[in-house]
Amino acid sequence: MIRMRLILLIVSALGALAVFAAGGVVKSPTGVAPDRYVYYPGTESLKKDEIRLIACGTGLPAARRDQAATCFLAEIGNGDKFLFDIGTGSMTNVAALMIPYDFLDKVFLTHLHTDHWGDLATLWAGGWTAGRTKPLQVWGPVGATPEMGTAYAVEHFLKAYNWDATTRNFVLSPEPGKITVKEFDYKAVNAVVYEKNGVTIRSIPAIHAGDGPVSFILEYAGLKVVIGGDTFPNRWFIEHARNADLVIHETFLTPADLVRLYGQSPAQAIGVGTQIHTSPQAFGKVMSTIKPRHAVGYHFFNEQSTHDHVLLGIRQVYSGPLSLAVDNMVWNISKDAIVERMIVSPDQAWAVNGPNKPPAPPAPGSVADPISDFIKSGRWQPAEAAQAPMVDKFKKDNDLK
Ligand SMILES: [Zn+2]
Ligand SMILES: [Zn+2]
Repeated sequence: MIRMRLILLIVSALGALAVFAAGGVVKSPTGVAPDRYVYYPGTESLKKDEIRLIACGTGLPAARRDQAATCFLAEIGNGDKFLFDIGTGSMTNVAALMIPYDFLDKVFLTHLHTDHWGDLATLWAGGWTAGRTKPLQVWGPVGATPEMGTAYAVEHFLKAYNWDATTRNFVLSPEPGKITVKEFDYKAVNAVVYEKNGVTIRSIPAIHAGDGPVSFILEYAGLKVVIGGDTFPNRWFIEHARNADLVIHETFLTPADLVRLYGQSPAQAIGVGTQIHTSPQAFGKVMSTIKPRHAVGYHFFNEQSTHDHVLLGIRQVYSGPLSLAVDNMVWNISKDAIVERMIVSPDQAWAVNGPNKPPAPPAPGSVADPISDFIKSGRWQPAEAAQAPMVDKFKKDNDLK
């Protein structure tokens, strides 16, 4: 272990391949391998001065089974966890980490495109039914007008899900179904939006589609991680992402691949791929300018051909340490090393209980029954009769009235 650390340190010092997972030596046919390049969630404690960053979504708004839309989970050595964006489909990856939902109550949104917050519903309702005991907290930018801001979005999100909440409130405590929103100015540069327990999160403006989007800078224990939201390369990023340990920035599909694979017209492709988003060459310029310990590109469907095209574009301009993210890539970030591995997690993970007891459901009669007598009168009694012995036995076994 010490030797591996040493190798990582030397490699880090050389600056070429900071990300490294050593294979180690298998010394006996019945022994264990020291390192399989993978991380099994929940099996390693995090060191006090370490950050574990997990890509839970790296794709695009159009759904794809092997790549959800944007979501990065930062796990901090002090015990804090922060979700940066929660794009469509990403909660299946988050859930497979089997982290109690009480630890997943803080969400930072870069902007309000669905590929960055489309799975808030899954965290909100799914976490509520699976053991979260307190409200969700969401941080996000104000808009140029109130109705373009995060508070408006969440207020109307809850209105859209009124039926969901009202019917759940009858059987569950309403407390975990609440969402508190902390808005901040999207124009503020390097402004602190969160500061607690040694963690500081700052925001810088981004240039993407309309006013409002931001990127986040997370600092902890002398480490600096930048989580870039959608943006054309911007001067705030160049200035404030410098000296970072790990820098995530979008890199989009090449215009040619947007035409070939995404059905876009050439005019659309050049606009989306080089003005609304960041082209591989522009990503390379950003990284070769700010020189992070490790660079991460994301926000494209990463398959052999697209990977090669994006990589070739980046390598025209940037030769430093680089990952082109896919879902379930994980980085352990410390002063000593940045180690990249892939997560191995089950497809059929259940939620894991946390340390807190869920708040009690409302007392009978205190909340209006959302089912009318008319609908109740349609209950088919043979079904009740068929399940009666099982129900009786279960009640007896569990001392239920
Ligand atoms: Zn966007
Ligand atoms: Zn996006």
